[in-house]
Amino acid sequence: MTPDAVIRLMCPNLKCKSVLSVPKEARGRLIRCRNCGSTIQVPQKPAQASTQKPNAA
Ligand SMILES: [Zn+2]
Repeated sequence: MTPDAVIRLMCPNLKCKSVLSVPKEARGRLIRCRNCGSTIQVPQKPAQASTQKPNAA
C-alpha cells in the first residue's frame, strides 16, 4: 500500500472546493476539476510542508 500514490488537491474555486484525487504522475501538469471544470495545476511537491531543519538558529 502506497498512500502517496495519489495527490489530493482542493479546487481553488471558492464556489466548488471539491477535493480532487490525482495520481502523483500528474505533478506539474494541469488537471480539470470534475465538478466545476476549472483548470488546476498540480504542484510538484505534496502540500505537506514539513520543514525539518537542523537547529541552525
Ligand atoms: Zn472545482
